[in-house]
Amino acid sequence: MKNKHYKELLELKLETLIEMAYRAKRSHRQDSLSLCTIMNIKSGGCSEDCSFCAQSARYKTGAPVYPMAPVDEILKMAEEARKSGASRFSLVASGKGPAKHEIEELAKVIERIKKETGISVCASLGIVKGRELAVLKEAGLTRYHHNLETSRSFFPRIVTTHTYEARLETIFEAKRAGLEVCAGGIIGLGESQEQRLELALELRDADVDSVPLNFLIPIEGTPLYGMSPAVTPIDAIRTIAIFRLVLPDAAIRLAAGRETLLRDFLALAFYAGADGMMIGGYLTRRGRPVEEDQSFCKEIKKIWS
Ligand code: SF4
Repeated sequence: MKNKHYKELLELKLETLIEMAYRAKRSHRQDSLSLCTIMNIKSGGCSEDCSFCAQSARYKTGAPVYPMAPVDEILKMAEEARKSGASRFSLVASGKGPAKHEIEELAKVIERIKKETGISVCASLGIVKGRELAVLKEAGLTRYHHNLETSRSFFPRIVTTHTYEARLETIFEAKRAGLEVCAGGIIGLGESQEQRLELALELRDADVDSVPLNFLIPIEGTPLYGMSPAVTPIDAIRTIAIFRLVLPDAAIRLAAGRETLLRDFLALAFYAGADGMMIGGYLTRRGRPVEEDQSFCKEIKKIWS
C-alpha cells in the first residue's frame, strides 16, 4: 500500500478498522501473544530533556536516582520474570547512552542471566554504537530496544538535546549488529492522528520486529504534566489497529499507560491487533498485579486457539 493510501485508514469507522486489524493479526501473527518484563537497572540523572520523562535531571519529579543495580538483584528479577510467564527480560538504563565500563559490566550480567535463567535478554541503553552492540550480542543479547518516541515531524517539540536521526541510527546499528529491534513510541504527547500514522510508517520503513506502544502518564514535574490533551480509550484502540495494519508482521506490544488508559477496553485492544504486553510494571511506575495479566492472557489465548 502506498503511504497516501494509509491516510484513508484515519477516516474508517472504528468497527471496520478493528475488523481489518483483527484479520491482519490472525493471518500474519496467528495466535501469538508474548509477555515481557523490564527492569530499570539504572535510574534518573539523565542529561537529556525528553519532556515526558521522569528521569531527566532537568525536571523535579522525585523519581529514584541510582547507578547500576547490583547483579544479584538483576538476576533475581530475571528469574521472577521467567516464572511469571514473560519470555523476554529487558535491562533498561537511563541516560543518553552507556559508558564503556557499563557495556563491559552489562555483558557479564547478560551472560549470567542467559546461563542461570534461560530467559531471552533485551536491553534499552539509549544511543549506542555498533561495536558496543556487538559485545552485548556476543554475551547473549538477542534484541535491542530503542523507541523513536513520536513522529519525525513532532519530535523537536518533545526532545531538543538529540536528534531523530541519532535515534534512527541506533536502530540501524542494532540491525547491522544482527540484533532484533524493538522500537515504538508514546501516544498522547500532543501529536495528531496523522503524526501517529507517520510514526507507524517510520517504524515500518525501519523494519522493526516489535513495537511497544506506551500511552502517556503525565508525570508531575515534567513539561507535559497537565498540558497534553488526554488520549481516550477509543483513540488508543484506533491507534493500535492502525499500527497493526501498517506493521502486520511486527509484535504490537502494549506498554506503560495501558492500565490507566485502556481500563475495561484492554481485551478490545487485543482484537484491534495487539499481541503482546509488558507485565510487572514500568520504569518509574508499577503495573497491575501479574496474576491479573496471567489470567487475562489465558482467556485471550482460549479464544484465539
Ligand atoms: S527518555 Fe531516556 S534519554 Fe530521554 S530523558 Fe528519559 S532517560 Fe534520558
